[in-house]
Amino acid sequence: MQGGLFVIEREKLALYGGQPVRDCRKDARPVISQEAKEEVMAVLSKGTLAQFYGGTQVRAFESEYAAWFGRSYAVAVSSGTAALHVMYLAARLPERSEVLIPANAYVSVLSALLQAHLIPVIVDLDPQSWAMDPEDCRRKITSRTSAIVAVHMYGQPCPMTELAQIAEAHDLTLLEDCGQSHGALWARRKTGTFGRAAAFSLCCRKHIALGEGGILITDDEELAATARSLAHKGKGEGWFDYREMGFSYNMTEVQAALGRHQLRRLDSELERRQRLARWVQEQVAETGLSFPLVPAGSTHAYFKLNALVPPELAPYRNEIVDALQAENVGCDPSHPHLLDIDWIREQRPYFFRTLPPEERPSYGPEIAPVARDLLRRQIGIEVGPGLDEEDLSYTVAAIRKVMAYFRAAYGATGRKP
Ligand SMILES: *Cc1c(COP(=O)(O)O)cnc(C)c1O
Repeated sequence: MQGGLFVIEREKLALYGGQPVRDCRKDARPVISQEAKEEVMAVLSKGTLAQFYGGTQVRAFESEYAAWFGRSYAVAVSSGTAALHVMYLAARLPERSEVLIPANAYVSVLSALLQAHLIPVIVDLDPQSWAMDPEDCRRKITSRTSAIVAVHMYGQPCPMTELAQIAEAHDLTLLEDCGQSHGALWARRKTGTFGRAAAFSLCCRKHIALGEGGILITDDEELAATARSLAHKGKGEGWFDYREMGFSYNMTEVQAALGRHQLRRLDSELERRQRLARWVQEQVAETGLSFPLVPAGSTHAYFKLNALVPPELAPYRNEIVDALQAENVGCDPSHPHLLDIDWIREQRPYFFRTLPPEERPSYGPEIAPVARDLLRRQIGIEVGPGLDEEDLSYTVAAIRKVMAYFRAAYGATGRKP
């Protein structure tokens, strides 16, 4: 009797006043080595904070980054969103053409397209891999389609072989958003090396985390030169050589110095996230959570370990996330379906009003239904950077506790008892 009561007491969710599995939350934080700190101090001491006035860090970061991917060119910029913006423009996609993007993409994919005067067309997800569905991609191609942007969300690679075939067959430009997929493989090849260009975010908790930052890679010399110019006020080589309207998306020398050090630990960061994510998956196999299918020869980069709660618990997804957070472990609800973002569904940005009615995209509730089901059930379990085995063992304990509670309470019927 005593023991039974103890179990009930112990298992009471922290959300409802129980004891949390961990005393306090440990947040994922970029790992900055002593060497990296010294390098940054050296840049600060020298006072050369910008490439424009003689800094060498940005150029060095770009060439080391391109080499890591086996690409010819890299252009470092101020954010992932900026990298997307200049990538779309530098690809010279015709204005007002349609660009296919998956429904689970990050919001920047959209805003950057609209800034480049391109029409986002929302593609559904595959129910097994939860990545962009090539079949739906095919269905949504029209005479105005110019490009496919593969967005490897959470680090799960899109099916690049098929997307490349579709792009080839329909004469479309294939681009990649690798904001969350540093080092993820598709068919043993790094994501970011399939498209004509790929954009990366280097912000806060990405695999390479500089606080803020972005970078674009490509083998296309002209695209690289155009992107570089656009990111630097539309300038060419000369002092007042203003070639076209550009932006001020420069990366600073401090960011680049940090980036060079983070790049050196990218392989180990990736290996650690993959090892921990695999372990967590094994440990929570009996909790009712499910994980995306990763085909043989491909790997997930685990920006987050994304998982689905079972269909009957879909109405409680946010409460489950709140409960996990209350246990002091890192977990977030997944990004919304792009068409659940009001400003896009209602086509509020000015650009939409410049379109003739027949060119307005369709953003009705019937677009991308598989994604809608997946995204309302998806959670993102924090796996890094800076989190270790001990941290993840708390995560496992919290998931077991919280899922056991919710399954017992709402399991088969999905209704409160
Ligand atoms: C983080 C992210 C971005 C935006 O990058 P910022 O550096 O925050 O501008 C774009 N796309 C994806 C997939 C991302 O994860």
